[in-house]
Amino acid sequence: MTLLEVRDLTVTYPNGAAAVRGVDLSLDSGSKLGVAGESGCGKSTLALALLRLLPAGTEVGGEILLDGEDVLKMRWGQVRAVRWAGASIVFQGAMHSLNPVHRVGDQIAEPILLHGGAGAAAARKRTGELLEQVGLPTARARAYPHELSGGQRQRVMIAMALACDPKLVIADEPTTALDVMIQAQILRLIEQLVSEQELGLIMISHDLAVLADTCDRLAVMYAGRVVEEGPARAVYED
Ligand code: ADP
Ligand code: ADP
Repeated sequence: MTLLEVRDLTVTYPNGAAAVRGVDLSLDSGSKLGVAGESGCGKSTLALALLRLLPAGTEVGGEILLDGEDVLKMRWGQVRAVRWAGASIVFQGAMHSLNPVHRVGDQIAEPILLHGGAGAAAARKRTGELLEQVGLPTARARAYPHELSGGQRQRVMIAMALACDPKLVIADEPTTALDVMIQAQILRLIEQLVSEQELGLIMISHDLAVLADTCDRLAVMYAGRVVEEGPARAVYED
């Protein structure tokens, strides 16, 4: 079954930069797509467009069908719900994506309270379960982001991304800011969790080898376009 279908997506920033130019992509439920390409080719813009997280004034054309519904036609209230329960993003550099003055447990609980329809007690319980799933002791819920290592912070980001049971996880360079040893652990964790829960994954990286190991299919972008797409091994060896 098709989970995500992107048709002729174009993104033009307010300054006129045409960052994405006619991209078509499709992703089946439970499958893993890698998006590769050199810096500046439009990978992050694509990821942000999927959840309508682009700056105001950005022009977006085409269609983004998530479970058959066009994200670009949704009202904002629906977009907010879709951001957590439909699809969620793990950004690179968790230090900048986490709020420095809130405990990480509260940050994981927040989307559950706001979008997951849970009460305080249920959200707290779910937060504990999520921390365990990502390999952190439940007691770490009380920590502030600066008290955690880079890898632990990225685990928190993964817990947040999974908090409202999305169908699709988008990971944008999720390991770029980490030590090489930790990178492999985080990649394995993401792969293991999305496989267990049969979630769709879009993994963005400038590193084709990383994607070839993790993903079923690969799309290579160049200057805002997808210039190659196919089974991961075939694209990697090409
Ligand atoms: P990648 O993730 O592949 O490195 P990006 O999607 O970040 O690429 O960037 C694609 C293009 O869009 C680049 O030319 C970049 O300079 C430009 N760009 C990115 N963000 C903005 C923005 N907020 N405003 C204007 N141009 C941007
Ligand atoms: P508000 O409820 O004020 O509209 P948003 O839903 O726009 O807030 O999200 C606030 C911030 O949370 C955004 O700046 C974005 O970086 C982050 N965010 C939103 N959705 C997600 C998501 N699905 N995964 C990770 N971070 C997200």
